[in-house]
Amino acid sequence: MTGKIQMTVPLVELDGDEMTRVLWQMVKTELLEPFLELKTEYYDLGLPRREQTGDAITSEAAHAIRRHGVGVKCATITPNAQRMEEYGLSRMWRSPNGTIRAILDGTVFRQPILTKVIRPYIPHWTKPITIARHSYGDIYRDTEYRVSGPGKAELLFTGQNGETFRETIHNFEGPGILQGCFNKDDSIEHFAAACFEYALATRQDLWFSAKDTIMKQYDGRFKEVFQDLYDSTYRAAFAQAGITYFYTLIDDAVARILRSQGGMVWALKNYDGDVMSDLVSTAFGSLAMMTSVLVSADGCYEFEAAHGTITQHYYRHRKGEKTSSNPVATIFAWSGALRQRGKLDGNAPLIRFADALEQATLETIESGTMTADLAHLSTRPAHSVDSETFLRAIRTALTDKLQ
Ligand code: NAP
Ligand code: MG
Repeated sequence: MTGKIQMTVPLVELDGDEMTRVLWQMVKTELLEPFLELKTEYYDLGLPRREQTGDAITSEAAHAIRRHGVGVKCATITPNAQRMEEYGLSRMWRSPNGTIRAILDGTVFRQPILTKVIRPYIPHWTKPITIARHSYGDIYRDTEYRVSGPGKAELLFTGQNGETFRETIHNFEGPGILQGCFNKDDSIEHFAAACFEYALATRQDLWFSAKDTIMKQYDGRFKEVFQDLYDSTYRAAFAQAGITYFYTLIDDAVARILRSQGGMVWALKNYDGDVMSDLVSTAFGSLAMMTSVLVSADGCYEFEAAHGTITQHYYRHRKGEKTSSNPVATIFAWSGALRQRGKLDGNAPLIRFADALEQATLETIESGTMTADLAHLSTRPAHSVDSETFLRAIRTALTDKLQ
């Protein structure tokens, strides 16, 4: 190889916690720095630094992504009571992903990473199924109430223009439960636009499913926004790309997805996307073989792994044990971010590097060298290695490719 690949604009790098923080450094040392003049604007989102900065670091990082257009994020701890004690926190800081999503206002696309040797639990799923999850509102911003006894529950809206709406939800004869949800037209419009853009960019059909037969106003509005945007803006471009958009009820979509070969973008409301992305990734083999990218309404990208910080492995790592933690989703977060940077900057060598890195990773697995989570799913003889050995094997394959 003659000299390292250069970068012109920095990537926004968001470091994280525990085992994924360890993998993060290993990936940089073994697979990036030997080949690239890596340029990043670094933000440490590890929990100690979030505590030190009163979590200001998280918003700063999100704003940096807005400025530079592309970020890559390591998995981070979302604190709970146990973490408060473990890390001596002054406050139970909010989920960094939640904070970043609120600032970037986006849609999360999750796609399984397929190899020739890991057979999905659904054998005819030969192409990836990408889940596009709306990441705003609905039950994640709900208002709940536990009704203690008889009484009347009403839905009341008071408009600033004097418009009012009032309807009985239920006349309770005894104790029960109540929930109020909302979403916003502009957020749904951004979600729909992000899905159409993503389907076009990846040349895959777009499906959107919800339950508008039951939620005629609520899910009906989602359906309408998608259809209006398709008709006004995307129909011709889709036809030209040879792809289609259609809406179907979520129960019908589930049945069709199961019978399909994959290869589509499946847009889902917030809760549906939460549940279905776990189902789809697990059916394809492993949580550690799923990429995740947040695309903002104004075209900024944040790449990450879909899994968490692999806490149990980290505790073993701290005791000096070698762990077989799977770094593939972390590698693909970097390759995705570098490729996007390359596209924005017209940097062809950087794009080629990102492609080579992904190919080297897949070929290493296909040659039989893989981490423990994959080894037991392999259709060919496999030997299970620790993370470091796995990364060195990828480095060898990558060096060959770049010669
Ligand atoms: P997790 O870190 O995804 O790990 C759950 C289990 O899945 C692990 O114990 C491991 O199973 C397996 N696993 C996940 N990723 C793996 C990998 N790369 N290689 C091998 N095995 C892998 O989820 P969690 O334990 O529920 O959460 C841990 C922390 O992560 C929490 O503090 C949570 O807040 C945080 N989290 C962060 C994000 C994010 O930043 N995007 C997402 C989810 C969770 P075995 O132990 O059986 O090997
Ligand atoms: Mg989930």
